Amino acid sequence: MEMNTTRFITYENRINPHITIHKIGCRQIAKNGGVGEGEYHEFQNYSDADNYADTTNLPKRNCSFCKPHSM
Ligand SMILES: [Zn+2]
Repeated sequence: MEMNTTRFITYENRINPHITIHKIGCRQIAKNGGVGEGEYHEFQNYSDADNYADTTNLPKRNCSFCKPHSM
């Protein structure tokens, strides 16, 4: 199996304005998903997720649990 299938997810929340970048499968995504607010986008690589996050003009965070930027 190739390792280039790793994907990333951004979670953006406009009520508590921020956007967080996660690796796919992060437990924190499921936690946020239960709320039913915010928006999710999937990406094939970190730079695409990072670039998208910049376009939202929301404060950008890297999840401290899955550390998407450390890959
Ligand atoms: Zn995460």
